[in-house]
Amino acid sequence: MFVWLTQFILFRLAFGMALLLSTDLLASKQLALNSQTADFPVVSYCVDPDWLPYEAIRNNQHVGMSFDYMTYIGVLAEINFSLIKTESWSETLDKLKNGECQVASMLNRSPEREKYLLFTRPFFVGANVLVSNVDQPFLQGYENIGEQVLGTVANYRQAEYIKNYYPNIKLKLVDTELAGLKSLASGDIDLFVGSLLSINAQIQKSGFSNLRIAGIAEPQDILGMGVANGDQVLLKKLDTAIAQLPEWVHVDIYKQWNNVRVIDEIDPRYIFGGIGVFICLIIIGIWWQLIIRRYNGKLVAKNSQLQALQNELVEKNRRLEFMSMRDPLTSMFNRHFMQDRVEQEKQVSLRTNVPLCLILIDIDYFKAVNDQHGHVVGDLVLQEIATIVCSTIRDMDVAARWGGEEFIVLCPNSNLDDAIKLANRLKDAVSGFDFNTVGHLTCSFGVAQHYAKESFVEWFDRADKALYTAKDTGRNTIIAAK
Ligand code: GH3
Ligand code: MG
Ligand code: MG
Repeated sequence: MFVWLTQFILFRLAFGMALLLSTDLLASKQLALNSQTADFPVVSYCVDPDWLPYEAIRNNQHVGMSFDYMTYIGVLAEINFSLIKTESWSETLDKLKNGECQVASMLNRSPEREKYLLFTRPFFVGANVLVSNVDQPFLQGYENIGEQVLGTVANYRQAEYIKNYYPNIKLKLVDTELAGLKSLASGDIDLFVGSLLSINAQIQKSGFSNLRIAGIAEPQDILGMGVANGDQVLLKKLDTAIAQLPEWVHVDIYKQWNNVRVIDEIDPRYIFGGIGVFICLIIIGIWWQLIIRRYNGKLVAKNSQLQALQNELVEKNRRLEFMSMRDPLTSMFNRHFMQDRVEQEKQVSLRTNVPLCLILIDIDYFKAVNDQHGHVVGDLVLQEIATIVCSTIRDMDVAARWGGEEFIVLCPNSNLDDAIKLANRLKDAVSGFDFNTVGHLTCSFGVAQHYAKESFVEWFDRADKALYTAKDTGRNTIIAAK
């Protein structure tokens, strides 16, 4: 808005200066120019709202070549033009027909329009062109169109002209030149006819890279102003003003618009709004990234804490499992483990009908070891005996510390003779070992083979009794239970 106002003011000042320098008549009009034209009569006018660069309504303002012309003409004719906004060219024509708009800013003369408008002398002449897809050969006029469908804007003079003079052409009417070019690009129509400058502008602006100007079309645009209501006085004023336009005005306006400069259709409010939204999105994006990063950091820390806890748990479970089945002093299996294992081996023995034996071991006079050498040495002896037992038994045997200084060996797939042989090896291994500071020690052994359907308690009891017998018969002895 501000840019437009600035342009307008500069434009009018420049125009005023130029008029001063050009003719006496225009110089006298200059007085009225800068003091604004409050005394001039107001004349309403309508434009084509979408026909750049000729004219258009953008951001509720009249822009384009016709605006520039009317600025000059308004000063020369001493008229204050007042825009009546319309949404389409059809609406503009309707408002001209019913006299709501007194003037049409820039249009071609045609028999149809002459029914309700008077026409000033023209102030701009320009070409009409045929547009096609890039593969269409060059066309000169309408003669060679043949069966192809030609599009043009409804209510434009061109539509009336083609209907009158080329009634055989297949004509498709569209609302705007842009709509026509879109139809052409999508293949709905084969050709489109429109005004050179506006077609050129639309092709460049909308990026129709597959479209091109295929030829010149008759008739050319001969554009002047239209006057409604048969107002001959107004017509004469405008005609006189147009006749007074110096050549440099035409050149200036042509130069300004011939380079197909298109007024930016985007409302600055939308641009600022868009920039605002964009900045907001960036801020939200950064903020979101920061949050994600923070949470990621926390997550990584929590994960490593969790991993450490899990490792600790695994280690504790491992130790717990070890402790649940091992004796802490000797690291041998404990009584609890052995009881489970005995039940399993009993099942195997029953199922496979192979013998199963038990050896109970008790250190002889162990109390004396503690008494003479202390409990610590006694513990070391227990550990050494455990090592001897574990290294002497066979792979299939299972040894455990039963309690105190008593040990138990389970011998799967072994009859009483096999177990007695193993007990003898154990007896010899212990008695032959020189215990540190203690010297030689012996053990007594009770051996029992499992009877079918005998409970562990009964079986153990028999082995225990045999062990007592071994103690009674002088120790360092093996007794087999009956
Ligand atoms: P016996 O030949 O009749 O078996 O004589 P003993 O002295 O070995 O008698 P008994 O088996 O009744 O004695 C067991 C002793 O073992 C009693 C206790 O002081 C000792 N003892 C039991 N558990 C431990 C232990 O964990 N560490 C130590 N150092 N001594 C233990
Ligand atoms: Mg004992
Ligand atoms: Mg003992």
